[in-house]
Amino acid sequence: MKKIGLGIMVLLVAGMVFADDKDKVGKVIIATDTTFAPFEFQDPQQKYVGIDIDLLAAIAADQKFTYTLKPLGFNAAVAALESGQADGVIAGMSITNERKQKYNFSAPYYDSGVVMAIKNDNNTIKSYADLKGKKVAVKTGTEGATFAESIQAQYNFALVYFDESPFMYEDVKIGNSAACFEDYPVMGYGIAQGNGLKIVTGMEKGSSYGFAVVKGKNAALLAAFDRGLANLKASGAYQKIIDKYISTK
Ligand code: GLN
Repeated sequence: MKKIGLGIMVLLVAGMVFADDKDKVGKVIIATDTTFAPFEFQDPQQKYVGIDIDLLAAIAADQKFTYTLKPLGFNAAVAALESGQADGVIAGMSITNERKQKYNFSAPYYDSGVVMAIKNDNNTIKSYADLKGKKVAVKTGTEGATFAESIQAQYNFALVYFDESPFMYEDVKIGNSAACFEDYPVMGYGIAQGNGLKIVTGMEKGSSYGFAVVKGKNAALLAAFDRGLANLKASGAYQKIIDKYISTK
């Protein structure tokens, strides 16, 4: 009787340890973009700040997990996730149907869309048709690039690929590319900050941003992110973070 009791106890304790292990996040590696203001960018002291960075910090504090942030660039961040060098990605990453085949996403935390931007003193480009025979800058692996690729044959332009948003804008400003395609929340913010570009066409439908893990992996981390995000929304902390970077008035 005594022996059986002890055996059951050992099993119970083992079960608890395993269950606990499965739900615990511990220390994780989160990959992000290098420059994608207002979601991730460096402040004058070179410290990473932005909506994604602050959200992640607040969620980790709320859910009691620790992490190392790796600003790698968008395409590189997704590659790091895929190869197991990162546990999650927060990088203004759009929740697209295609990506859902490979990744599990958190609840959406910010709505987006794709816009074309041109140099602010350009008065000749008024529509996609005016891109004919010209170069168009896009950022590798992004929803903006996918959109540009989808209309390339129709409007007959050439695509130039960049790994980072600022290089893409620069190519438009020096006149090598006639336009670039970028997420509206980022381009709108950049224009307001005086990045030298302007938008002359409407916004294309895009997907909302979500935190991503590889499908079937890091379930505890994803669940913690979702719980934390819900808590931040309920407490008003989420809105405070948004307001810190984007003035809605
Ligand atoms: N939202 C876009 C995407 O997911 C771009 C993200 C980025 O450049 N950081 O493709």
